[in-house]
Amino acid sequence: MLTKGETNRMNAAYWCIVSGSDIWLVEGELPKGMAQDYGLPYQQAIQLGHYENTPVYWLNEADIDAELELTSLRDCLHFPEPLFLLMSKAVQYGHMSQTLRFCPQCGGRNHLNHNQLAMQCGDCRTLHYPRIFPCIIVAVRKDNQLLLAQHPRHRNGMYTVIAGFVEVGETLEQCVAREVKEETGIDVTNIRYFGSQPWAFPSSLMMGFLADYQSGTLKPDYSELSDAQWFDVNQLPPVAPEGTIARALIEHTISLAKS
Ligand SMILES: [Zn+2]
Repeated sequence: MLTKGETNRMNAAYWCIVSGSDIWLVEGELPKGMAQDYGLPYQQAIQLGHYENTPVYWLNEADIDAELELTSLRDCLHFPEPLFLLMSKAVQYGHMSQTLRFCPQCGGRNHLNHNQLAMQCGDCRTLHYPRIFPCIIVAVRKDNQLLLAQHPRHRNGMYTVIAGFVEVGETLEQCVAREVKEETGIDVTNIRYFGSQPWAFPSSLMMGFLADYQSGTLKPDYSELSDAQWFDVNQLPPVAPEGTIARALIEHTISLAKS
């Protein structure tokens, strides 16, 4: 019988080699092949799932001897969603192994527990699972208008829907109402769930909602935003890219406004 490490070596697989939010691509594709084709330390590789019947493995770039050309995961949004999600997973586990090197409980040194996919303290044995930060993202509609904001961190001037982190002790619906109010001064109603997307920058879970305008006048919070406006759905500015839940929310709202 083959050991786990030997199986990794013998089979063709997809290889997610990650560092921060970056991932190794070869000619724009996720590398696929046997570990020895690329000289990878297959004994350390961890399987995260399958894509089209081919196993998908994660390794940290720090454990590879060669210089690899890395690409931001943000530039991989056009990949098929099931593969993109596995790549995101690798990035998030990579982030876990980088940021949870010491036990938050006792300060001891953590190591990766391969069976649990968690970090484990060598002293007190506590398991530390990867942290996920819940975030809401919401498209607000007023008749045939959509509320969009511009963030100083988006250098290309694109607009997108309102988003923010969930606070402790808050429901998702309360978070939606609070974020829209804080960032734009608008009160919303008819808040309903739309869908979700893990967002590995570094470890958020975006939970998408639709909402309708209720009351209030637009007063952008310029400490957070560089602009916020109601846009006619027929005259939108450059918006969030394809493959993001923000884009899916925007397109859904356009279809609602036109129906
Ligand atoms: Zn500990």
